Amino acid sequence: MQLDNDATSGYFMVVFRVALWQSVRHLSTCAVCSMPCEVKPRFVLLYGSQKGQAQSIAEGVAEVAEEHGLVAELSCLSHNEKYNLEKEKSPVVFIVSTTGDGEPPDNALRFVRRIKKKTLSTDHYKHLSYALLALGDTNYANFCNCGKTIERRLQELGAKQFYATGYADDGVGLEVVVDPWLDGLWKAIKGALSKMASDRTGYLKGEAGDSPQETPDSSIPDVQLNLLSIAERQNCESVRASVEPVSKFASAASPSASATQTAVSDLRPASPAGSPGLASQSHGDASVSTSAPETKTKDTGVPHVELAASLTRSLPPLSESSLNVPALPPLYLDVSLQEVDSVERMDGLLNKDTLYEVSISRAVQLTRGDSVKMALLLELDISAYPTITHQPGDSFDVFCPNRGTEVEDMLRRLGLHEQRNHRVHISLRKDNKKRGAQVPPYIPQNISLLYLLTWCLEIRHVPKKAFLRALVEHTGDAVQRRRLQELCSKQGTADYNLYVRDPSLSVLELLSAFPSCMPPLSLLIEHLPKLQPRPYSAASSCLRHPGKLHFVFNVVEFPACSGRPAGRRGLCTGWLFDLINPVLVFPGKAESSGSPALPKIHVSLRPNCSFRPPSDLSVPFIMVGPGTGVAPFIGFLQQREKERQENPEATFGETWLFFGCRHRNQDYLFREELEDFESSGTLSHLKVCFSRDDQEEEEEEEAEAATTISAARCKYVQHNLLLHSQQITDILLKRNGCIFVCGDAKNMAKDVNDTLMDMIKTELQVDQLEAMKTLARLREEKRYLQDIWG
Ligand code: FAD
Repeated sequence: MQLDNDATSGYFMVVFRVALWQSVRHLSTCAVCSMPCEVKPRFVLLYGSQKGQAQSIAEGVAEVAEEHGLVAELSCLSHNEKYNLEKEKSPVVFIVSTTGDGEPPDNALRFVRRIKKKTLSTDHYKHLSYALLALGDTNYANFCNCGKTIERRLQELGAKQFYATGYADDGVGLEVVVDPWLDGLWKAIKGALSKMASDRTGYLKGEAGDSPQETPDSSIPDVQLNLLSIAERQNCESVRASVEPVSKFASAASPSASATQTAVSDLRPASPAGSPGLASQSHGDASVSTSAPETKTKDTGVPHVELAASLTRSLPPLSESSLNVPALPPLYLDVSLQEVDSVERMDGLLNKDTLYEVSISRAVQLTRGDSVKMALLLELDISAYPTITHQPGDSFDVFCPNRGTEVEDMLRRLGLHEQRNHRVHISLRKDNKKRGAQVPPYIPQNISLLYLLTWCLEIRHVPKKAFLRALVEHTGDAVQRRRLQELCSKQGTADYNLYVRDPSLSVLELLSAFPSCMPPLSLLIEHLPKLQPRPYSAASSCLRHPGKLHFVFNVVEFPACSGRPAGRRGLCTGWLFDLINPVLVFPGKAESSGSPALPKIHVSLRPNCSFRPPSDLSVPFIMVGPGTGVAPFIGFLQQREKERQENPEATFGETWLFFGCRHRNQDYLFREELEDFESSGTLSHLKVCFSRDDQEEEEEEEAEAATTISAARCKYVQHNLLLHSQQITDILLKRNGCIFVCGDAKNMAKDVNDTLMDMIKTELQVDQLEAMKTLARLREEKRYLQDIWG
């Protein structure tokens, strides 16, 4: 292979690149000599991201592009002034997530709309070469839908794929697909560049007759060779450098597959953070894999009894394995703290203009005390804001702070407790190497450190592998360093999932388990995402409860685990619970006559234009909402009840509700209200099942309720759906009706989807593919709608 070290070929490369690459901007002009000089080949990198995952992957790609001899032009899909796909001649890489019910992220919406235009011709993107990484979650229906939509349209418009699309599943861990996909991306981009250059060469060859001196035929192979040589050389280097074979994308979908890695060579015992040994580590070069430190069992003051693996301890083979860890993310923020004379008190949310401050006028515990989960109904008094006009199906965001005790613990853990009221200054590092780096826009100016940790950063965030990798650099103890390296390594993926991801271990919990890790504040700001508000579905209709807004939630519980000595509650649900505890009303008990001060919270509305009862009152619809998933349907039915009262002559389509919970007597939410709806005819069919009631007990109760034994055998909503398969398919397939599913995304929504598929298969006597198409059509027609979470 000819490398780029020959003066003659180097000369040819420069000359002929002028001709071949100017149009694709691979040349720039030297400011000093006005001569064209070589610059790295470019590719376009576009992301659409709702919560920042796709963005951070794209930023990571942009950061390491240079090390692969490439320049990435990174842009958000919403910044369409920064890229021009209509004219783009370089490879384009898309990294897009999917949100909600298979919707594009907000910042990709307009792009998707643009490319969906029917007026675009089938060769609109004929010139385009693309690769796509789609992020999604198989717990939700419409897995990776945004990526799939973009891909389908690109292909319909003539674009060519240069690398197999990756579909990463957050349900099992994005990295399972993302890492190997990124591994193979560089070679694919270089291949695409090479191919585009040779296509272009062919094109120029045709033109060469016009200007033979500029593009002599003999130059063409040289140009290609040079381009290839860049790619090949780097591949060779990385292959040579790595003990592990470079994995292929096709074989990478298994959890054991390879990841984009920089191998760790730093196994010196306990070298303090910031030591030269640490500082000299590469920020992304491939280097050699290493083996475990011999001093693994070094005495750390704790008697060493190797019983079982835990968050802080591994067992063979991992503890003895060579590790491939991710590239060290570049530092990009400078953070300083300034003492100020008069400390402004900042104990609430800034930017309140777009939020509504409302009081909680009532709080009711819907479940009995012995229920496994605690479901609460909160009533918000929104009468001061006539502009809040919510419809059934809408949800709204609740803004909650981080827990005070955790903020204090974090301050202490960072050694910054004394500076809690100091003002935080954040700027970009002068030597910042992160592409597209910016000071997080969600952090306001002139805030105190306390405010930053209370309202801006998700300090409960589950650290990603890149964060763990960065923490290694600030960990003094060799054993702890090694364990952090394991947890972020390719080989340690199972342990990462078991001890970090699955139990939702927070950064603070991790820092407590690794006491010698002392990260600077800047690292936390670089890696912790924005503290997000939590959405809740409206559980009331403003026709029935004017000036009020109800919602229902389960208090989320995280059990104790390795690294978490005591269980804890969910952030928002735990905060709400503490707020309303003094005014909480229990089922069947009279409300207190005293009037304790009503707590206030900040909310904003999130209208949902499709998850709405049909506007045509005669359309039949089915609601599936076990547990707190019943919330929006209470609003649906309250509205329907009012409509029936106001339009006694109108024809109303039948309504079905499938509800499920553990025990009839413990967590049957809204039992009375639902039974009233059924007896008044607002709800045509109420189908309820209990997953944990004893069969006998249940059959007795069902017999009392004069319903069928078969109904008593239903454990989950999908069983009940199956029992009424004929009526449901009839509504959906023959009577143009709708089905709404709300609640747990992890199991229920998928099980319901599978059951619907089976029902369609049986009813229409079609195969799986046809049934899938039918369901997809129902979704497209907005007749199969989901509002799911978890
Ligand atoms: P966090 O500290 O953020 O912990 C979140 C963790 O808890 C996640 O790992 C997740 O797996 C798990 N989790 C999330 N939701 C639940 C849940 N409901 N039960 C058990 N575990 C959970 N929740 C409701 O209870 N009622 C609603 O009406 C409701 N409507 C929603 C509407 C939309 C559009 C969306 C996106 C979500 C909705 N949620 C609803 C979920 C809600 O926003 C929160 O995620 C949930 O209350 C947990 O918040 P947290 O801060 O207490 O938990």
